[in-house]
Amino acid sequence: MALDLMSGKLYWPTTVTDVPVYPALEEDIECDVLIVGGGSSGAQCAYTLSDTGLRVAVVEREKAGYGSTIANLGLVQALGEKMLFELVDTFGEETAIRHTKLCQQAVLDIDAAARDIPIDCEFMLRDSLYTASSQADVAKLKRDFDLLVPNGFRVDWWSEGTIGDCFPFSRPAALFMRDEAELNPLKFTLGLLEKGKERGVRIYENTGIQSHTNEPGAVVFHTIGGRRIRANHAILATGYETMEYKKEPNAVMASSYAVVSEPVEDLTEWYRRALIWETARPYVYMRTTPDNRILIGGLDEQTDVTEERDRLLSRKKERLLEGFGKLFPHIPVRSAFEVAAFFGGTNDGLPMIGKYPEYPRCSFLYAFGDNGLVYAMLLAKLLRDELTGVSNPDMSLYVVNRPTNVKSS
Ligand SMILES: Cc1cc2nc3c(=O)[nH]c(=O)nc-3n(C[C@H](O)[C@H](O)[C@H](O)COP(=O)(O)OP(=O)(O)OC[C@H]3O[C@@H](n4cnc5c(N)ncnc54)[C@H](O)[C@@H]3O)c2cc1C
Repeated sequence: MALDLMSGKLYWPTTVTDVPVYPALEEDIECDVLIVGGGSSGAQCAYTLSDTGLRVAVVEREKAGYGSTIANLGLVQALGEKMLFELVDTFGEETAIRHTKLCQQAVLDIDAAARDIPIDCEFMLRDSLYTASSQADVAKLKRDFDLLVPNGFRVDWWSEGTIGDCFPFSRPAALFMRDEAELNPLKFTLGLLEKGKERGVRIYENTGIQSHTNEPGAVVFHTIGGRRIRANHAILATGYETMEYKKEPNAVMASSYAVVSEPVEDLTEWYRRALIWETARPYVYMRTTPDNRILIGGLDEQTDVTEERDRLLSRKKERLLEGFGKLFPHIPVRSAFEVAAFFGGTNDGLPMIGKYPEYPRCSFLYAFGDNGLVYAMLLAKLLRDELTGVSNPDMSLYVVNRPTNVKSS
């Protein structure tokens, strides 16, 4: 049964006219790589594989791009919910820095893809302001700064005074990061699929996978409609629904909330329209859109119960708006769209590629975490290397059961 991914009123679908339509699969097919799931993760895999010469097919149970991709607020960032120093504590400095560099490269790869696709996905390079939510968090932010600077990241340390000079609010300190971005995740996903289709990727909607069998030299997927897809390899990019049939111990489900405002008149108080987020956990993050809306998200709750998630929506909406009002008291905001959605993360803070004995020839793509877009691009490139016979040592960072410094109790 499909997971009830979200409830509420969604913004991104209102931004797209002429949504591409793909046929349902009505015959048995063969391919080199089958991608299950047509969300932003599956689309990034399809795009990345589309110029390799491999025969690629995508199957989407419902409508491509309309899973949790339509709840995504479209921030494209290299740093994630786990602070960099925490990743260092878990994985060691070399791995944590390498991961962050790969995320930074993925931002550039997303930029390149956004220019290449036939749909304008409103990609914009942005700076980001990562604020210390309290005096006690300044030291944490400083630890991250001291790791980022010697490793070549373009980041400045902002004092309370500098923040006050540029924004109408006060915070004890912040990191001002360059080379981050924003986009419209639905347009991005649809554009990637359209580009993939131009290059020969076969895409099927209303084509759900219900089971698989193993054959010599292949894995065979069986659709709900009774068709067979014989593939040399498969990428399972089924988003948080993966947890319904493959319980991965390092993955964890929570609930997240978001508000999209009516367009506001004046955003001149918002320095360079930077992405804004903070050290508090759960945190609140925000960005602007080309039509002057404000997207505010966060206040995650540790619940994976649909009723509990939805019951909290109206209170979370109020708190997100109040939080915004404290930062920008002169920008009046009214909610136009609000959503409560499931949100997957990993306990150790890094995304994963799952390979399991009961699923030979299959790679599960867990682009889980607050930077799902960036993680999916990073993992898609690793899978492309693997499937085209290129040895890439970075794969070892993302396989499940990777080594960590965490001692089990
Ligand atoms: C409120 C919120 C805000 C977020 N904001 C950001 C952000 O600002 N930046 C960021 O990078 N990330 C963000 N994320 C995370 C991001 O949304 C996700 O990481 C990403 O969109 C998930 O894409 P996906 O393709 O993995 O999953 P989905 O979009 O859910 O796609 C999976 C697809 O698989 C299909 N599927 C499932 N089972 C089957 C089957 N058996 N057969 C065929 N098809 C199947 C589904 O129908 C679905 O379309 C946010 C998440 C939430 C909830």
